Amino acid sequence: MDKRFYSKLIFKEYLTDNIMRIGFEAPDEFTFKAGQFFNILFDPSDVNYNRSYSILNPPSKAGIIESCIKLIEKGYGSDRLRSMKEGDMMMLEAPHGVFVIDEKTANNDHVFICTGTGVTPFYSILLEHLHRKPDKRFTLIYGAATLKELVFNETFSDLERKHDNFEYIPTLTRQSDGSWKGRTGRVQAHLPSSIEGKTFYICGLKDMIKDVMDALLDRNVDMENIHIERYT
Ligand SMILES: Cc1cc2nc3c(=O)[nH]c(=O)nc-3n(C[C@H](O)[C@H](O)[C@H](O)COP(=O)(O)OP(=O)(O)OC[C@H]3O[C@@H](n4cnc5c(N)ncnc54)[C@H](O)[C@@H]3O)c2cc1C
Repeated sequence: MDKRFYSKLIFKEYLTDNIMRIGFEAPDEFTFKAGQFFNILFDPSDVNYNRSYSILNPPSKAGIIESCIKLIEKGYGSDRLRSMKEGDMMMLEAPHGVFVIDEKTANNDHVFICTGTGVTPFYSILLEHLHRKPDKRFTLIYGAATLKELVFNETFSDLERKHDNFEYIPTLTRQSDGSWKGRTGRVQAHLPSSIEGKTFYICGLKDMIKDVMDALLDRNVDMENIHIERYT
C-alpha cells in the first residue's frame, strides 16, 4: 500500500485546554505496529510543514488512526490542528518508526517512561500487548504537571487493576492543592531499583529524554536495552 493517502478527520476532542485527541479514517488495507507514528503533510509540496504524531490506538482497533497531541502556542501544526474541522481531508504518510516492543530481547520486563503526550505510543503498545503477553511484565512511569494533564490516568489505573503483569506509576510535578496523594517529582526519581532483565523505552521532549538517559546510564544500563522516541 502507498504510504501516502488522503484521509478524513473523523473526530477532534479537547482533553484539556491544549491537549487534543484526534482520529483520521484509515484505509482498509492500512496496518501498523503499536508504537509507530504517522505524518500529517499540512502542505504536501513542502516538507517543512510535515509534522509527526505517534499513533494512539492499538492496531487491533482498525479503521482509524488516532493521536494525542499537545498544542503549542504559535506552533505551525498546532494552529492548523486547532482550526481543522471534522470532515476535513488531510494527506497522511504512515506508518513510520521503529519505536515498538523489542521482540529480540531476552528481557522479560518492559519499562516505559514518558512525560506529557509522550504517553501516546505507550497507550497503543499497552492496549495491544498486555493481554497477549501475560509472561512479560510492563511498567509505565508517566509524569505530568497536574492531574488534569495526566491524560488517560483512569484507563491506566483500570488496566493495572485488570492485569497482574502491569504496574502503573504516575507522578505529578505541580499539583500543589493537596488533592493528589500519589507520587510527585520527575519521572527519573521513580525508576526501578533493579535494572536486571529490563528493557527501557523513553518518549518525550529532548530534555526529559536526556535526564532519564543520564539516570539509566548512571545505573549501568546497557545502551542496547534503551529505546528512544524524541518529539523535538
Ligand atoms: C516521531 C515523532 C512523534 C511525535 N508524536 C507526537 C505526539 O504523539 N504527540 C505530540 O504532542 N507531539 C508529537 N510529536 C511532536 C510534533 O511532531 C510537533 O513537533 C509538535 O506538535 C510541535 O509542532 P508545531 O508545528 O505545533 O510547533 P512548531 O511550529 O514546529 O514549533 C514551535 C516551537 O515549540 C517547541 N515545541 C515543540 N513541541 C513542544 C512541546 N511539546 N512543548 C513545548 N515546546 C514544544 C519547538 O521546539 C519549537 O520551538 C512527535 C514528534 C516526532 C518526531
